[in-house]
Amino acid sequence: MAHELLKQQVWEANRLIAAWGLAPLTWGNASGADRAAGVMAIKPSGADYEQLRPEDIVVLSLVAGEVVEGALKPSSDTPTHLVLYRAFEGIGGIVHTHSTHATAWAQACREIPCLGTTHADHFYGSVPLTRQLTEREISEAYEEHTGRVIVERFHSGAADPVAVPGVLVAGHGPFTWGKNTQDAARNAFALEQVARMTLHTMALNPLAPSLPQVLLDKHYLRKHGDTAYYGQADSLPQKSANDIHHRDTETRKPVSEYAIRRTTTDEEQ
Ligand SMILES: [Zn+2]
Repeated sequence: MAHELLKQQVWEANRLIAAWGLAPLTWGNASGADRAAGVMAIKPSGADYEQLRPEDIVVLSLVAGEVVEGALKPSSDTPTHLVLYRAFEGIGGIVHTHSTHATAWAQACREIPCLGTTHADHFYGSVPLTRQLTEREISEAYEEHTGRVIVERFHSGAADPVAVPGVLVAGHGPFTWGKNTQDAARNAFALEQVARMTLHTMALNPLAPSLPQVLLDKHYLRKHGDTAYYGQADSLPQKSANDIHHRDTETRKPVSEYAIRRTTTDEEQ
């Protein structure tokens, strides 16, 4: 069978999000893409993480969205994943969970401001919040529209999806992504921890200040980009901050302006 490595990686990521307590029952799914092969692989619908086997993972065409390998029905959230892979070219993995603290922020319809360096290590600014879906969007192609409101949020200037690899869907929960499915799972874990820390911080001090820009830059850019020096060479992220900047100048604002927007948004809250 083809796509063995991709299916193995996606199986492992689904087991990880369950083991980390991010997706109790069947509240979540992980997928991975092989862009050279033009496919994505995702957990089957309603499958129990404990019973899941690598051969159960369903492979679909990225362009057509049709199943090309696997006997089971793909996750009901598959249309959301397809929309994100098609819109965000730099990503190779997506994770959706209903992890408690990130979901609490989504239900409260609050983006997560960057108050500390733990957040800055993973997300270059606030974790954005989508708008609510309309009645029509919910009744017609709900899962696809869930992906569309995420893309709309990023394309309207919330952030660059590579620099901020996650979002809160209003009234629903978090989606994270990364360069592969394991990276997306790690970002799901980081988002849950950040959501919990920020909630505790704001309980202690509702007026807790945003992390200063210079500290946000220091922590994000020492792990990501051309000047990154954290960790070992082979684990450094592939995407550089310069790549992000150059791509954004064509379609959206550079990263530095997103950070300015982040500060403004925080002050408005
Ligand atoms: Zn969900």
